[in-house]
Amino acid sequence: MSDTGKNPKSRFIRVKCRDCDNVQTVFDRASSKVVCQVCGSTMVLPRGGKAEIHGEILERVDKDIE
Ligand SMILES: [Zn+2]
Repeated sequence: MSDTGKNPKSRFIRVKCRDCDNVQTVFDRASSKVVCQVCGSTMVLPRGGKAEIHGEILERVDKDIE
């Protein structure tokens, strides 16, 4: 498994859905689409690296993957 990013730490973002008030924590290098768990709206689209965030970014969270 290779790490393609410059940052060895994984980064998570708290994103608020555009269509409802649901807030989810998503990986900013998601390799697959992430949808809102409440309404199913697209929240993150993979872009071959840093993901494209659809929604309001509330804060960034640094933590290790478990
Ligand atoms: Zn939603």
